[in-house]
Amino acid sequence: MKRSFLSIGECMVEMASIADRNYRLGFAGDTFNTAWYMRRLLGGAWDVAYFTAVGDDAISTQMTDFIRNSGIRTVFVRPLPGCTVGLYMIQLDQGERSFSYWRSNSAARKLANDPSLLETALTSASLAYFSGITLAILQPEGRTELLNAISAARRKGVTVAFDPNLRPRLWDTPEMMRQAVMSAAAVSDIILPSHEDEAHFFGDAMPQATASRYAEAGASLVVVKNGPGEIVSLSGGGIGRHDPVRVDSVVDTTAAGDSFNAGFLAGYLDKEDLAPAIKAGADLAAKVISKHGALVD
Ligand code: AMP
Repeated sequence: MKRSFLSIGECMVEMASIADRNYRLGFAGDTFNTAWYMRRLLGGAWDVAYFTAVGDDAISTQMTDFIRNSGIRTVFVRPLPGCTVGLYMIQLDQGERSFSYWRSNSAARKLANDPSLLETALTSASLAYFSGITLAILQPEGRTELLNAISAARRKGVTVAFDPNLRPRLWDTPEMMRQAVMSAAAVSDIILPSHEDEAHFFGDAMPQATASRYAEAGASLVVVKNGPGEIVSLSGGGIGRHDPVRVDSVVDTTAAGDSFNAGFLAGYLDKEDLAPAIKAGADLAAKVISKHGALVD
């Protein structure tokens, strides 16, 4: 029987500035980026599915087609009548990128409003993946629904992976963000934080402190990314330290963490051998940050 990777979150329309007043249309979003890379890395023995909500307008249809044409199953991409999807623009000013977002009415904010679909999707998965951004866009009730559904699926044997992806601008207060992220950590097996964010919002002095905090919350495996710095893992085998891949010219760090997570998870699902899986994550992230854009072929 096929095994299934289920990623849960928000995919957005991306308008990237390419020349004066011209924009290129794309689709991206942290959990979607990871699903996109997973589809490329996992063999035919795996299904990759995305769980989200979209609208019923033309751009929502175009997004769903893009997800499907990427080889990702869209059976859990739910169209909501009268809604649409979120959008962001990347503007270039003398080489500096700035982002503007329109996502407050995005259909994905309601992705957890159908508990029975959530249960069906999660219990059909071997590995479920979500992020702090998935949590941030939901209303408090939706957040509770999602975490309860994930917790129930985990009790039935589904492995759960979580990237805290701390984005304070999406939360009313940093404290709400911290509480929600630690609640998510308590229902996760594998946690993939980035130390720079964690140091800033949780006060972790070193990557090892980030790893310990998430291990104490209940995760059996924590892999702490740290930009160009050493990657630290913590599991039953103890602390591991892994060299990142040296990148001489970083072009665009968009999706560094998302692609690392895919490279790591795909490698780990294949052999459950930590060091080569972390190397695979770092290799993919190095390739992605050497080019423009979130989705690099
Ligand atoms: P981050 O989320 O910034 O910690 O980055 C995620 C992963 O991307 C890191 O663990 C590295 O594998 C890779 N990465 C990010 N920035 C760099 C960089 N400047 N040089 C090499 N690798 C990087």
